Amino acid sequence: MIVVVGAGPAGIAAALRAQECGARVTVVDDNPAPGGQIWRGDSNVWLTRFRASGIPFIASARVITGDAQAQTLLVETPEGARKLTWDKLIIAAGSRELFLPFPGWTLPGVFGAGGLQALAKSGLSVADKTVVIGGTGPLLLAVAAYLRQHGAHVKLIAEQASPAGLAGFAKELLRNPNKLLQGVALARHIAGSPYVTNCWIESATGQGRLEAVTLRQGRRTWTERCDFAAIGYGLVPDNELATFLMNSPNVVIAGTGELNLAILEGEIAGFTVAGYPERALGLYGKREKAHRFATALQHTFALRHELKSLPRPDTIVCRCEDVTFGLLCEFPNSRAAKLHTRCGMGPCQGRICGPAAEFLFGWNPGSLRPPLFPAKIGSLMPATTE
Ligand SMILES: Cc1cc2nc3c(=O)[nH]c(=O)nc-3n(C[C@H](O)[C@H](O)[C@H](O)COP(=O)(O)OP(=O)(O)OC[C@H]3O[C@@H](n4cnc5c(N)ncnc54)[C@H](O)[C@@H]3O)c2cc1C
Repeated sequence: MIVVVGAGPAGIAAALRAQECGARVTVVDDNPAPGGQIWRGDSNVWLTRFRASGIPFIASARVITGDAQAQTLLVETPEGARKLTWDKLIIAAGSRELFLPFPGWTLPGVFGAGGLQALAKSGLSVADKTVVIGGTGPLLLAVAAYLRQHGAHVKLIAEQASPAGLAGFAKELLRNPNKLLQGVALARHIAGSPYVTNCWIESATGQGRLEAVTLRQGRRTWTERCDFAAIGYGLVPDNELATFLMNSPNVVIAGTGELNLAILEGEIAGFTVAGYPERALGLYGKREKAHRFATALQHTFALRHELKSLPRPDTIVCRCEDVTFGLLCEFPNSRAAKLHTRCGMGPCQGRICGPAAEFLFGWNPGSLRPPLFPAKIGSLMPATTE
């Protein structure tokens, strides 16, 4: 039995390719429906095929830990905990947004860029709302286009990367005609919303909720009034489960890139794990090209040093445990900070503040311990094996 964790593009592609090769597959995802981050409620060829495939899909089921030796996963579902056994495991857990703390970033009305898009897809009305978008990377443009299509007034997109870097990236786009076309379409959708480079949101202010953001571009600072700020500084792979289980030869990891790369990696994982590596081989060239593009993206949108000076001493870094930047500055590493302040020990288990502290202080994330997510006590009791 092949178990796939994650029903995003990578997991769906992996499951379908493995099934095509005759393997028995089950997919688990903590969302109520398949699609992952990007195909929420959408319809497309892969999702339609997945829905018609008959592949068992365990929805609203979060893998909270696993055992590489026993080849089991512990899964928490609304009906209780289940233990799944696997012969081969494909982990396609995707990624989350990187948040960098700045004064006011915890005010209601300040969102992750992809997070605001996801909320809008799930029903939050953005019609007639004034939005400032900030951070880095093409996701900002995709979010701006989506919000505008749904009636938002996108006042400004603040991109921290330099115009020179973006010009270099334009050459990479020329080598990828599909991406170039996507870029042109996005540019059309956001026409009229200024795209300001070398620029970032320095602070957010408001009485109880967001009312305005202050932006910086070089020495110039100015304030824009807005209802929402949508901020994204890139993506962090959700690799906790993979890190925990990766010493098993029967575990394969797929995805954590942009869409095309995620699908290709999923297909390669599906073919390989189902015992048809020669079919995977045919996709290596495409994957190489997608990797080159991903590397160019990383290079172009690398975070600038100045962003490390955004937090003030009283700026919260760990929002679960209310730990400030000033307090964290007193410790030499994440372990000491954790022991003294509980930084990273709240409900998100360091998923938000960990990567921020890594950027701000150069700290390595601490070691992982199960359960990988906060879980009900009952879920940790011996569960039924399937
Ligand atoms: C907020 C956001 C917005 C994005 N928007 C775009 C975009 O517009 N264009 C683009 O090209 N890329 C976008 N990306 C990047 C995007 O992640 C990929 O393009 C694509 O979704 C990757 O597919 P994937 O299958 O690797 O991961 P995902 O689509 O993230 O799928 C992973 C799935 O695994 C599930 N999962 C993770 N851990 C567990 C667990 N322990 N137990 C059970 N289920 C689990 C997740 O809930 C999720 O459904 C976005 C990323 C984020 C975070």
